[in-house]
Amino acid sequence: MNIAIMGSGLSGLSCAITLEKHGIKPTIFENRNRVGDRFVNGEATFSFLNRPIKDELKYLKEKFDILLTPIDTVNKLVVHSENEVGSIDGNIGYINIRGRHENSYECQLEKQVTSKIIFNSTHEYEQLCKEFDRVVLATGDGEYASKLGNYKSDLTCTIKGKTVTGDFLTSITHVWINYKVIPKGYAWLIPFSEKEANLVIAYPDYPSNIKLDINEMWDTFYKMACKKLDQNLVVTDSFEITRYMMGICNKPIIENTYFVGNCFGSMSPGLGFGQIAAILTGVYAAYDICGLGKYEELTKPLFENYNHALVFRRFLENLSDNEIDVIIKNLDNKYLDNVINQLFSNKRQLDFMEGLVPIMKLWNSFKK
Ligand SMILES: Cc1cc2nc3c(=O)[nH]c(=O)nc-3n(C[C@H](O)[C@H](O)[C@H](O)COP(=O)(O)OP(=O)(O)OC[C@H]3O[C@@H](n4cnc5c(N)ncnc54)[C@H](O)[C@@H]3O)c2cc1C
Repeated sequence: MNIAIMGSGLSGLSCAITLEKHGIKPTIFENRNRVGDRFVNGEATFSFLNRPIKDELKYLKEKFDILLTPIDTVNKLVVHSENEVGSIDGNIGYINIRGRHENSYECQLEKQVTSKIIFNSTHEYEQLCKEFDRVVLATGDGEYASKLGNYKSDLTCTIKGKTVTGDFLTSITHVWINYKVIPKGYAWLIPFSEKEANLVIAYPDYPSNIKLDINEMWDTFYKMACKKLDQNLVVTDSFEITRYMMGICNKPIIENTYFVGNCFGSMSPGLGFGQIAAILTGVYAAYDICGLGKYEELTKPLFENYNHALVFRRFLENLSDNEIDVIIKNLDNKYLDNVINQLFSNKRQLDFMEGLVPIMKLWNSFKK
């Protein structure tokens, strides 16, 4: 069977690895000149967002023979609100590197692929559809799915990030939810070495936000982050993404085309995590092609996770800074601390997000 994979990112390469394991060699088309041709970026995966999976990397290795080495495990997630700071401790997930770095996840996956990757590709999707039996769309955004009328966009976001140097522990990540500084959005710090980290702000492009000056917002946040971390972080690189689409396809497969990764809708609208779902969609598309499962069935839990994450986003947006302060303060409450840490741990399988969905929905309709 003749298979084209359009895009050599996380989903496209995971699809190729799985096809090869089952005796099919796809042709991979990449429009850039190498795998991972984008800014170097520290990213994270948190196990509680991928339930029923407990430990995502162990799962990918044991179930699909996909090997990924992170930079470190996350042992502490520090959450900052306007006036409080709290933390979730324990084995929460992993941090990893992306982009133009030899240890980025996409470069690690490339080493596990033997099929040909055609770089600087100018092939159009329509052309691939005619020339190949199956096309796997893995271009990293919802644009093709939108063009094909197969995408529901729930929001777009503006993201501004910088690489900063300072002193970091690679097992500790930080997140800020402070609507006075970043309305309806959030910010994070993910270290990718003991000296380098990404400091990023992201907010939805709602009408009330569009008029805001992103540089002013960044400067205010940057000063706040330096103060909170008690460091003079030095900026060495930067990136900005406008109108980053968060949505999901209506159908994961149409005729001979599979929508995988962000073309499927792997990016969670809650906190913007998408790596594990991207890899899973690539593997599941390969399973379908090899006759080992039905893509529509295999992706059902991912649709569900997406919908839960959307409820979670609306819930967060409906909170005031004061209400967020109360939640963050209680993360370290001596009676709740251990329970919270257990819920987030990758040693547990509890899908507490699912359990919280009815409460969050109630809150959302109350706030309407
Ligand atoms: C700033 C930022 C921070 C993020 N942080 C996190 C995080 O901390 N944790 C997390 O889990 N997720 C995070 N994500 C989301 C995660 O990176 C994505 O969900 C994931 O990479 C999607 O995988 P993919 O295979 O769909 O796309 P990608 O891995 O982006 O791969 C797409 C590939 O397709 C290629 N391509 C594009 N167009 C064409 C074309 N026409 N022809 C051929 N090739 C093409 C691209 O060059 C690229 O190589 C973040 C995203 C961003 C933007």
